[in-house]
Amino acid sequence: MAQPTGQTISQTTDTSTADAETYADFNWDEVGFGMVPTDYMYVMKSSEGESFTQGNVTPFGNIEMSPYAGILNYGQGLIEGLKAYRKEDGRVLLFRPEQNAQRLKIGAERMCMPSPSVEQFVEAVKQTVRANKHWVPPQGKGSLYVRPLLIGSGPVLGLCPAPEYTFLMYVCPVGNYHKGPLNLVVEDKLHRATPGGTGDIKAITNYSPVCKALTEARAKGFSDVLFLDAVTKKYIEEVSTCNIFIVKDDVISTPAIVGTILPGITRKSIIEIALDFGYQVEERTIPVEDLLEADEVFCSGTVVVISPVGSITYQDKRVEYKTGAETVSQKLYVMLTGIQTGRVEDKRGWTVEV
Ligand code: PMP
Repeated sequence: MAQPTGQTISQTTDTSTADAETYADFNWDEVGFGMVPTDYMYVMKSSEGESFTQGNVTPFGNIEMSPYAGILNYGQGLIEGLKAYRKEDGRVLLFRPEQNAQRLKIGAERMCMPSPSVEQFVEAVKQTVRANKHWVPPQGKGSLYVRPLLIGSGPVLGLCPAPEYTFLMYVCPVGNYHKGPLNLVVEDKLHRATPGGTGDIKAITNYSPVCKALTEARAKGFSDVLFLDAVTKKYIEEVSTCNIFIVKDDVISTPAIVGTILPGITRKSIIEIALDFGYQVEERTIPVEDLLEADEVFCSGTVVVISPVGSITYQDKRVEYKTGAETVSQKLYVMLTGIQTGRVEDKRGWTVEV
């Protein structure tokens, strides 16, 4: 990931500027993927057993919590991630926000938390993006990443669900993900998820345990880690924060969602686009040997969008894949990003105007 941009810009406290165009005095060519404190965030609270009712857009800033908070002690929390894109005419689009809302609801049920309704979630995203509208980069320069959090913010000592929950959302401008083809390494000792665990939801506790494998892989020059199933170590599952696809003879395959893999919204969208293009798409268990035979491999996710994989190393054997303009992944990328940014007609109603 790129480092924080280091650019600072003073906060505004007047939401009437929310409809303003993109900030002119920000260097949009240098935006990467790192923290940029924007103007506003969204906060909504609920007590245990009660639903969320009224949230507010408030100035961006630190939050206060008891040292006993469920999230701090037992990791009771979920994250989400989606993006807002600026169209050529200046209007702003969200991509399938209701899908994030539904995924959050499923995760909340697993983590014993109340969750906002789909309507509340989408409305919160709209309000937060609207309040920070001038942070949505100009078309072609990136997007506004939206990070919703649902956390057990109430105090607990013994292990149990927290007595109070906070739904929080902040936004951050991010650049286009131009990392060149990814070089992955297959990890066969450490695992991201186990059957019966939380690999299929965006539990906050799924992520930092991945850092050890990721840090070691990066130190050896790899871009990211491809995890195997924890039971047999024979099948590929997913990369630290993205799903994976392989292409062989125009058949596109991706690991089936079996409980240890996050059901990515980009993954789901790619499958629909690929079927529309006439490709055969298979969701199946993929033995690691299939990687050795593949023509093309690519990763998918909100951040990486569709990123080609240049090589995969498995037990010291390195396999290289086709990348570049003539690939299936490039064709899918053009269509997906076209829909997201309003350059291609959105026939499926995936985009939502802010
Ligand atoms: N897998 C994991 C573990 C992730 O964290 C993400 C990012 N949300 C994805 C896959 C891709 O999901 P999406 O396409 O919804 O961003």
